Amino acid sequence: MLTNTNLKCPECGSEKIGKGKLSGYANLQPVGKFLSMGSGIIAYVCVDCGYIIKMQAEKPHVFKKK
Ligand SMILES: [Zn+2]
Repeated sequence: MLTNTNLKCPECGSEKIGKGKLSGYANLQPVGKFLSMGSGIIAYVCVDCGYIIKMQAEKPHVFKKK
């Protein structure tokens, strides 16, 4: 699956960027908030060389401090 973002791979220059999701045990958990659900991580991967261009939390609001 290709995204329609304007990302470009800094390694090989490809603009074919796939989107992957880390979830389950790779969930990103807010530090010190044991009862929270955590967030999946969206990774943007160059489909030509495999370089991970960026990672983004799926639910950034769970990291907000109250
Ligand atoms: Zn690349």
